[in-house]
Amino acid sequence: ILPALSPASNRKLGEGAYAVVNLGHRRATSTELAVPVAIKKMKVNTEFRDGLSMDAIREVKYLRELHHPNIIALLDVFSSKSQNLCLVLEFLSSDMEMIIKDSSLTLSMADVKSWMLMSLRGLWWCHKAFVLHRDIKPNNLLLASNGVLKLADFGLARSFADPYRPMTSNVITRWYRPPELFYGAKFYSSSVDIFSLGLVFCELMLRTPFLPGNTDLHQLELICQALGTPTEENWPGVTGLPGYCVPQADTPAGGGAIKERGKDFFMNTFIAAGEPGVELLMRMIRLDPRKRCSAREALDAPWFSQEPHPTIPANLPKRG
Ligand code: ADP
Repeated sequence: ILPALSPASNRKLGEGAYAVVNLGHRRATSTELAVPVAIKKMKVNTEFRDGLSMDAIREVKYLRELHHPNIIALLDVFSSKSQNLCLVLEFLSSDMEMIIKDSSLTLSMADVKSWMLMSLRGLWWCHKAFVLHRDIKPNNLLLASNGVLKLADFGLARSFADPYRPMTSNVITRWYRPPELFYGAKFYSSSVDIFSLGLVFCELMLRTPFLPGNTDLHQLELICQALGTPTEENWPGVTGLPGYCVPQADTPAGGGAIKERGKDFFMNTFIAAGEPGVELLMRMIRLDPRKRCSAREALDAPWFSQEPHPTIPANLPKRG
């Protein structure tokens, strides 16, 4: 049981589709100093009689089960006067999106390696517990003041323990969403998170989103241009997915399908990663989800054990 929280501070930390997040403090006790916490107040969903949405319940359920240094810690749960469910989370002062956008910071390949390593460790832990995050993107990778990265926002997380239960394909922010979800796949796996993290990897190197589509159709066009056109040849079974289509430009009339991109293509764009870095990236963003590496395999990639070694979290670039 936690020491009482101090009256909720009014400092708003952020707001998402499902929640408003405020700064609060866990009161000091005779043995412990006051600690800042984030209080995530879930928005009331009128669709549900008791005002609690499944997203809120799932977030609590999964966070209670997942204890790992690279996954945000859920400290407590309580219900406020207005019946909103409130999650008390460890307070994390920044996120990867802020770092990427801060042009005063220089990010070295050793830094990128460190953030990728911590993200993959968090993801490996989720996948080991059969939990899909389903919303991996830079602003859901939060950073503690000591530099440690933690996966956050489990509002869209789902269990994939039962492979025969269909799941919605309407998840993951568009720019990080893998092609199988645009095709309406209902039986997808942990490889959706690997693809999203692969695109975060690209963004860490480019300092701008790699595939920033304006619409779902535009997103699919960007995926095809950058990675190749999904066909039976590079992705057996893809044409049987309910929403399968290819952009006009990739049809025989428009110029034909683009071959799945090879190492030369990625080496040109991501030269700084070197061959081992590019090899890992390519395994994360393969078109066919079955050909993508798992988080465990990614952690064993030679890139992580080669120089430059990953920066220790305390030495990673931080916002001033
Ligand atoms: P939603 O589930 O509605 O998308 P988020 O969990 O993404 O809500 O939270 C919204 C915003 O609140 C985040 O983008 C971030 O800026 C801030 N935030 C969330 N959790 C924390 C935390 N633990 N510490 C600090 N800021 C946080």
